[in-house]
Amino acid sequence: MNDSRHEIGAVALALKDLAALYREADARVAALGLECAACGRCCDFRRRDHVLYATELEVIFLGEIKAVPCGASPGNPPCPFQDAGRCSARERRPLGCRVYFCKAGPDWNDSVEELHRKLRDIHDRHRLPYSYAPFLAHPLIVSLDVKRGCLS
Ligand code: SF4
Ligand code: SF4
Repeated sequence: MNDSRHEIGAVALALKDLAALYREADARVAALGLECAACGRCCDFRRRDHVLYATELEVIFLGEIKAVPCGASPGNPPCPFQDAGRCSARERRPLGCRVYFCKAGPDWNDSVEELHRKLRDIHDRHRLPYSYAPFLAHPLIVSLDVKRGCLS
């Protein structure tokens, strides 16, 4: 995103909408009683061979959280916010983290689609570019991994 005055103001407003969307997602999860044993396996993308996507706005929202040193996982880091198997960025984690449940039934998929449409709408409403890309490939996340010494 460039730093024009419009975009700075739009990003600030969009971040408020994003926080509200996250609250809505969490409320839907709570209402359905979806269960998670917090084992942390789904956050180890490279071991699990799956990809978390997030928008640039979501990564900005996460930006104030400190990444955890990669310790025992150089070359094969899990999510930079995973600490001893637990999420250290729970309040700011992306929508994809909030809606993924390994045991959720197919009914949940419609809700997930709707939440993603709302995420896209936030960008349209604030006239911000929409980039929905692999989380670990985002420059901010890559720079966190380089700083942590996880990537060569
Ligand atoms: S969603 Fe499933 S794999 Fe992910 S932390 Fe919860 S129980 Fe573990
Ligand atoms: S931000 Fe938290 S929930 Fe999302 S992948 Fe990373 S550790 Fe897991």
